[in-house]
Amino acid sequence: MQPDEPLLYSAGEKDVILLPTAEHCNNETALRQIPHVDKLMKNKIITDSGIYRHEAADAVRETLAELRDKLKKGETDKVPGEDVLAQKAVSLAQKHERKNIIRVINATGVILHSTLGRACLPAAAAKAAQEAAGAYCTLEYDLETGARGSRTGCIEERLQAVTGCEASLIVNNNAAAVLLILSGLARGGNVIVSRGELVEIGGGFRIPEIITQCGCQLREVGTTNKTRLADYAGAIDADTRALLKIHTSNYKLIGFTESVTVKELSGLAKSKGLTLIEDIGSGALTDLMRYGINDEPLAATSLEDGADIVSFSGDKLLGGPQCGVILGREKLIKALKTHPLYRALRADKMTIAAMEATLRIYADQPLAEREIPVLSMLSLTADELRSRAEKLRDKISQCGGSAEVVQAKSAAGSGSVPGLELDSYAIAPVSEKSASRIERELRELPVPIIGHIEKDRLLLDVRTIFESDYDYIADSLARITP
Ligand SMILES: *Cc1c(COP(=O)(O)O)cnc(C)c1O
Repeated sequence: MQPDEPLLYSAGEKDVILLPTAEHCNNETALRQIPHVDKLMKNKIITDSGIYRHEAADAVRETLAELRDKLKKGETDKVPGEDVLAQKAVSLAQKHERKNIIRVINATGVILHSTLGRACLPAAAAKAAQEAAGAYCTLEYDLETGARGSRTGCIEERLQAVTGCEASLIVNNNAAAVLLILSGLARGGNVIVSRGELVEIGGGFRIPEIITQCGCQLREVGTTNKTRLADYAGAIDADTRALLKIHTSNYKLIGFTESVTVKELSGLAKSKGLTLIEDIGSGALTDLMRYGINDEPLAATSLEDGADIVSFSGDKLLGGPQCGVILGREKLIKALKTHPLYRALRADKMTIAAMEATLRIYADQPLAEREIPVLSMLSLTADELRSRAEKLRDKISQCGGSAEVVQAKSAAGSGSVPGLELDSYAIAPVSEKSASRIERELRELPVPIIGHIEKDRLLLDVRTIFESDYDYIADSLARITP
């Protein structure tokens, strides 16, 4: 549009001719003052921002387009200075960056928070993964012989040391483990499962559907709450390949219930020449009784009790990287390793490096409790948590904010130990602002702090917060709730 052209508006029957007003003239002048993209890209604020040039350029274009739009609509008549525009573009680019995966502070008290990435790796494991990721590594290379070696040999040795297994294998996750086990060991036959264990693990991973998917027929036995050994025995026929036991993980049956132990099933499986498979879900490698967790099956116990094949996740109670661990009889593991599906489901080098480093720590129990975040978070006592909460509260007041220490309940999460509530302590900000407003503002921080609202109060449970984040939290909270 030319600034000296009259503006023509259609207004019903008659056309109305508007002469250019002073305001329009101003905006036309302003529009011409908008700096060029290339010029703004040379601004120091942008060149120093560390943002990729192509992303900065997109943000600059977006910023300038928005300004042009506002000038045209008459919502503004000023063109801000270049530094202001550059700063705007940088903020916009940073806002876009938040759509990527970024670090957050988990103040929910849920240790294995699937939405927030489940287990945090021990520092040594994170370092091992980073090294394997950014450089060449001995993934399948044997330094002794200079020839090709085993991809997961290091892990297999460590798993054997910790669980006493004959052989092992790791795949992408436990869902993949179940898929490989059933496809490799029971395809074409039927698999017997208790009705009480036909669960959906989450994300649509339903045991009955998986069994069909693997080319097996599901043979359900017993009832939802009670299944007996005779139910399994009565269902076995010539096509039966395996007995499958599944840890119900994300739910708990209470009241009049009866289920068959691995030990009992083992006798039956042996006498009939069937494979006994157990999916223990969370996969605790050490006894968690001292943390008040007593119904999570241990991998070693399952094997001792006679399971031929056991599978579990690497990033639940084990506290390692996402992977699925399969332990069991050498002959069966060998069959799985040579199955074509294994090639599609195998773990990558970063996972293998991180898993090896995590398992190495397990050889020393006190070290494991100190170094593996999942275990150290589980092991914190209520007294320790209260003094941590008080420390955080004091830091908040030193920064000029205000918060209270309150009792809270934290959980293991990720379907591990359902119903388990761990006594914990939390920080509740004291402020005029509503809990939902504080919750949002904490979420908008450069390193977002994720809490949860309970009875109109925002709680930040200290069990899942690293102490190294206290200063940042105190400073941020003081600024949000002065
Ligand atoms: C969590 C779980 C799975 C799925 O494990 P992922 O590692 O998340 O794939 C399978 N079975 C049971 C019993 C589980 O608890």
